Amino acid sequence: MMDQRGVIDDLPAIGFGTYPMRGQRAVEAVVSAVHAGYRLIDTAVNYQNEDAVGRGLDESGVDRSEVIVTTKLPGRDHGYDATLRSFEASCHRLGSEVVDLYLIHWPNPSFGKFVDSWRAMVQLRRDGRARAIGTSNFTEEHIERAADATGVLPAVNQVEMHPYFPQVGLRAFHREHGIATVAWSPLGKGSALFDEPVVRFAATRLNVTPAQVVLRWHVQLGSVPIPKSADPGRQRENLDVFDFDLTDQEVEDIVALGRPDGRLFGGDPNVHEEL
Ligand code: NAD
Repeated sequence: MMDQRGVIDDLPAIGFGTYPMRGQRAVEAVVSAVHAGYRLIDTAVNYQNEDAVGRGLDESGVDRSEVIVTTKLPGRDHGYDATLRSFEASCHRLGSEVVDLYLIHWPNPSFGKFVDSWRAMVQLRRDGRARAIGTSNFTEEHIERAADATGVLPAVNQVEMHPYFPQVGLRAFHREHGIATVAWSPLGKGSALFDEPVVRFAATRLNVTPAQVVLRWHVQLGSVPIPKSADPGRQRENLDVFDFDLTDQEVEDIVALGRPDGRLFGGDPNVHEEL
């Protein structure tokens, strides 16, 4: 079995999301995020900001070896050879020979090629070009198909997760298989969530913001949220969730905000297709 613990054991409790920032705005956001203390930065080919993330890392003055950078293979590059080519292009844009955490962005099951991409990623991991490999938006079934074909489980599965869509079943599956859950749209895109009474009451009790309550909820559940903000003040606020605790009841009550149709983006991995 391939050992991917190197990167995963070092996975920070909170990361930084970069979509939809691009260009100079993204460079500046990455510099301020790194200075705020983020050591996990999330990008993707489809965000069109891998180059800006690379520049931001260089301008931050922090050594690349201290930051875990995630990037993701787009649907149009599924397939064994196409994955290898796409990986090289990502490395070029990031300005790095190695990718810390390389994910398949969406399974695009109707294409029928994510297993071939996974085989290529296993090879990239063996060659030391990807320090760890994982998936995004994979269901239990997609993970099982990739693992059955290669004997290699993803180190992480990055999925939509927030109180309206708490991924109870998938997180249990991840735990059983030693897969880390990374949560995208962890704040529910800064939505109505912040006005939910259970979130507001906890924020008042603890003298923190609703966003901090939601991020602390992720941390206590063991998922790794990757909130996005271009604002340095909010970037710091979103990392500052390690000196208070939600009660078990508060954690449970926030999980109870979940609903079957709680996805905010409509991205059901079984049908969503993204090139
Ligand atoms: P998010 O939950 O991080 O919400 C972002 C919104 O919340 C922004 O409008 C931001 O201004 C606001 N916000 C941030 N901090 C705040 C605070 N402290 N108080 C109030 N508002 C605050 O949602 P997102 O940007 O959709 O997701 C985060 C990251 O996840 C993305 O940037 C991207 O890197 C990743 N992502 C991955 C996928 C995938 O398919 N793998 C899909 C979507 C997003």
